Amino acid sequence: MDFNDSPTEAAFRQEVRAFLDQHARLRREPNESAFDSAKTDADRLAIAKGWQQTLADAGWACLSWPKTYGGRDATPIEQVIWNQEVKRYVTPDGMFIIGQGMCAPTLMAYASEQQKAHHLPRIASAAEVWCQLFSEPVAGSDLAGIKTRALKDRSAGAGDEWVVNGQKVWTSGAHYSDWGILITRTDPSVPKHKGLTMFFLDMKTPGVEVRPIKQINGNKDFNEVYFTDVRIPDSQRLGKPGEGWKVALVTLMNERLAVGSGLSNTVMDVFRAAQTVELDDEPAIRNAAVRDQLANWYCREMGLKYTTYRMITALSRGQDPGPEASISKVVVGANNNQSASYALDLQDTGGILDDDELSGFGNQFQRQFMRSPANRIEGGSDEILRNIIAERVLGMPPDIRTDKDVPFSEVPGANSKG
Ligand SMILES: Cc1cc2nc3c(=O)[nH]c(=O)nc-3n(C[C@H](O)[C@H](O)[C@H](O)COP(=O)(O)OP(=O)(O)OC[C@H]3O[C@@H](n4cnc5c(N)ncnc54)[C@H](O)[C@@H]3O)c2cc1C
Repeated sequence: MDFNDSPTEAAFRQEVRAFLDQHARLRREPNESAFDSAKTDADRLAIAKGWQQTLADAGWACLSWPKTYGGRDATPIEQVIWNQEVKRYVTPDGMFIIGQGMCAPTLMAYASEQQKAHHLPRIASAAEVWCQLFSEPVAGSDLAGIKTRALKDRSAGAGDEWVVNGQKVWTSGAHYSDWGILITRTDPSVPKHKGLTMFFLDMKTPGVEVRPIKQINGNKDFNEVYFTDVRIPDSQRLGKPGEGWKVALVTLMNERLAVGSGLSNTVMDVFRAAQTVELDDEPAIRNAAVRDQLANWYCREMGLKYTTYRMITALSRGQDPGPEASISKVVVGANNNQSASYALDLQDTGGILDDDELSGFGNQFQRQFMRSPANRIEGGSDEILRNIIAERVLGMPPDIRTDKDVPFSEVPGANSKG
């Protein structure tokens, strides 16, 4: 591809910069955060919502969406230019990635025109926050093994409604979400991928109980969500009954893309750490083993950069981006995890201090070290993505799936609780 901006792209980049210069602060340190002043989750949400509303008011929210749904009708390349530019500023991004990056594309594909016109502009401005109610205690990688049941209420006088019972887990942001997309089992008598149905629902519906999960880093980012006789109108079904897997694939494909592109490379931060901290009485960067390790990550990052360019080229030609999103996510997730661990070791005892002056890096690498294992699980674990790459890219023999063609009700454990 041609790495330079075309005249139109250069003009667009200038327009982006002008907007960002006016509304955001240029980044001085890699770990500067727009959430620094936030003390609680509610503060973080308020900051992120304020920024999203500013974007929406000026026509910079969800750029690639149609204007009628709150977007800008931007091309994939314009979206890339925006992503490149916004990284240079301190902005509160990432809180609405599930609603905007995963739920919205699913609504675009399956909701009615009236529902799209109502919800999508609200998702774009963050007036509505959405969550993804997919994983269950025994169904994460094997998502098609979910047990949450939805039954059509056929009793006399009942409206056109479904009744949902079951439990979801790891639901990011459910505690501050207004709406969610929910995958359920509607027919256990057919193989697992065939008896699923997707809905969307108001998280305030009676019978929905959200219980936050406290994490090792003290945050509460995700939740258990329980459903007890929750009634959902049939008009909030996405896709036909039994076709929930097909609908879920739209969400999952977008999830890999959204999670993968949301991760940033960090080798240059470790490089800066190696220039600053001492090893054997000289800057660590002088040590050949340290340089060797940094060079290794740098090469991987360059490989990723050009893999991403290949994906952008495909997008700009209107082609399918292909499996590159899975490759990027596997490599960046592992890099972030290993490089944070290495940077903490380099800082020696400073690595355990949560203090800017004493450690020189604040808690940047601690935060990264604590968060990065999650990068390797969310949006498909490393092992699952490697299976995808092996099967769909390299054409290797498929994973053994003995329960694929068996009615779900006959799969061992299908009828147990949890
Ligand atoms: C930060 C974060 C946010 C999340 N947010 C959400 C959310 O908003 N909504 C939601 O629905 N879910 C969410 N999840 C859940 C996530 O989708 C699941 O954790 C993930 O799919 C893995 O499922 P699991 O946890 O059940 O692990 P399991 O599927 O039980 O996997 C356990 C281990 O076994 C390995 N494994 C499983 N199957 C295979 C196989 N066939 N071959 C090789 N290895 C295998 C896995 O790689 C993993 O190492 C989130 C997870 C994280 C970490």
